[in-house]
Parts: sequence; structure tokens; C-alpha cells
Amino acid sequence: MYPAAFEYHAPTSVKDALKLLDKLDDAKLLAGGHSLIPMMKLRLAQPKHLIDLGKIKGLAGIKEEKGVFTVGAMTTHWEVESSKPIKAKVPVVSETAAVIGDPAVRNKGTIGGSLAHADPAADMPATAIALGFEFVCEGAKGKRTVKADDWFKGLMTTAVKDNEVLTTIRIPVSGPGSGACYMKFPHPASRFAIVGVCAAVTVDKSGVCKKVGVGVTGAGTKAVRAKGVEAALLNKKLDAATIEAAAQKAADGVDVQPDLQGSVEYKAHLCRVFARRALEAALKRAQG
Ligand SMILES: Cc1cc2nc3c(=O)[nH]c(=O)nc-3n(C[C@H](O)[C@H](O)[C@H](O)COP(=O)(O)OP(=O)(O)OC[C@H]3O[C@@H](n4cnc5c(N)ncnc54)[C@H](O)[C@@H]3O)c2cc1C
Repeated sequence: MYPAAFEYHAPTSVKDALKLLDKLDDAKLLAGGHSLIPMMKLRLAQPKHLIDLGKIKGLAGIKEEKGVFTVGAMTTHWEVESSKPIKAKVPVVSETAAVIGDPAVRNKGTIGGSLAHADPAADMPATAIALGFEFVCEGAKGKRTVKADDWFKGLMTTAVKDNEVLTTIRIPVSGPGSGACYMKFPHPASRFAIVGVCAAVTVDKSGVCKKVGVGVTGAGTKAVRAKGVEAALLNKKLDAATIEAAAQKAADGVDVQPDLQGSVEYKAHLCRVFARRALEAALKRAQG
């Protein structure tokens, strides 16, 4: 299958990309192309112009400063997966990247492309919510930062505007007593998440939960924070019964969608099972 005809543009700066976005009618940014190109081949997207971000220096790379990683939007899943500093300080981010698709997808697909595209079955959105990523978008009027809770707006819709580029993802490093885990029930062919849950907890020396983040992907039209689970854990001593009871709330607030992979009941059940498993693993890590 071939996409409809389009014009290709390859700016070398974010400024030039923004000028093109402003000037051209019906233009789309191109990152790794692993979501957009298949959509174009299926004619689900038919942009007249593609603005390739691949030639812009400085849009890829990983830096750490004052307890926060700044990851360029064009950093590939493989670079995130294999980054030694990320593995050492926020291993769950590396682990999430490592279960995206297959090596071909991870070598071309980018963290920014995935988070801007917001496929309802994508993996990184759950981890972005659980850890509290921040998203830096650049437009003609300058930069703005969007918090993870305000980023995912709906089916394949995020807070980035048509005339903006997502340039950087900010990932906070958790303090002592913290642990996190992402687990998914993958589609056997694509590896996309039928349901995926990321849980991040911080506990004090007596095992009381001082901070918690739980993100759920796959089940609904967008990734969401499992607020009921979080509320049931905060300031409680995390034992098996508390985790089990909290995990029962994992599908609350998720607009669970039935599809070829499963019914609403089945997917809601997966949310609860994977929330419990991810929380148990996160706690184990937090307690060393
Ligand atoms: C066979 C296959 C299996 C896959 N399996 C998985 C999986 O298991 N889990 C998973 O999470 N994903 C999976 N993916 C998707 C993959 O992760 C893609 O790489 C990702 O969704 C999109 O990233 P990209 O860099 O390829 O973006 P592109 O396809 O280039 O762009 C996607 C969208 O985001 C927009 N965009 C891109 N970058 C920016 C930016 N910087 N600012 C603003 N907008 C931007 C584009 O305009 C476009 O609308 C799979 C893909 C394939 C083909």
C-alpha cells in the first residue's frame, strides 16, 4: 500500500519547523514514522506536507540535571532502553521502552513520537503518568510545559497544538525508598499493550506509602491515572491485603473499550490483575 502524494520538508532547526507549520496547510511532523507512515499507507492520514524532524540537531539525547532527566523528543526507544543513566536512576523508563514493539520499531520510533501520537495501546503513556513526566512544547511564542495529567486529552489527542513541536520530555528521578514497575499483557503480534499498568511507590522505613503513581494504558481510549488505586494506598502500610484491595479499583475511571482483543469485563479484569502485579513488584524494589 502506498500513501497519498505529499511534499517532504526537512528543516534543520525547530524555528524553521515552526515556520513551516505556520505557513503550510495540512502539514504533519514526522519523527520515527512508525505510527504516522502506517496510517498514511492505510490512508487513515493524508497530510499534504510532511515536516521531518530528523535533521534538527539537539532534538535527541538524554541529559540529567538536578534530579531530572531531560530527554529530547527525537530520542529513539532503543536509546532510552539502553541509556546507562536511565537504567541506573529510573529503570522503569528503560524497561518500558524495552517492551515497545520489536528492535526495528525501537530503533526508529521515538519517545516524543510515541507520547505525541498517544496511541491508546502505547506503553510509555502509563509510565509517564505514574512517574509524572513533563512535556516541553515549543511554538512561535516560546516554550510551555505541560504536566502528564494534562497531556493525554483523548483518543490519539494530546496537549501539543498543531503549531507546536514537542521538544523535550522531563522525567523526575524518585528519591530513596522508591520503586516502580511497568507490566503489560501484550498483543501477541504487535506487542502493543492490551492492558499495561505502571506503578511507582515511595515508602518510609516502616513500609508506609508516602507517594504513589499508577498509570493504566490499553484498556480505554487514552492512558489514565488510576486515582482510586492511589487513594487506597497513600499513607497506608503496604501489605498484600492493602495492595489487593487497592488494585480492585484499577479500572475505575477508565473508559474500558471492548474490541477484538477482549470484552469490557475481560479488560477491566486485566487492569486489576496487572495493577496488583505491578504494585507488588514496585514495592519489592522500593524496599530493596
Ligand atoms: C509493528 C509495530 C509495533 C509497535 N508496537 C508498539 C508497542 O508495543 N508499544 C508502543 O508503545 N508502540 C508500539 N508501536 C508504535 C511505536 O512506538 C512508534 O514509534 C510510536 O508510536 C510513534 O513514534 P514515531 O517516532 O515513530 O512517530 P511518528 O510515527 O513519526 O509520529 C507519530 C505522530 O506524532 C506526531 N509527532 C511526532 N513527533 C512529534 C513531536 N516531536 N512533536 C509533535 N508531534 C510529533 C506526528 O506528527 C504523528 O502524528 C509499534 C509500531 C509498529 C509499526
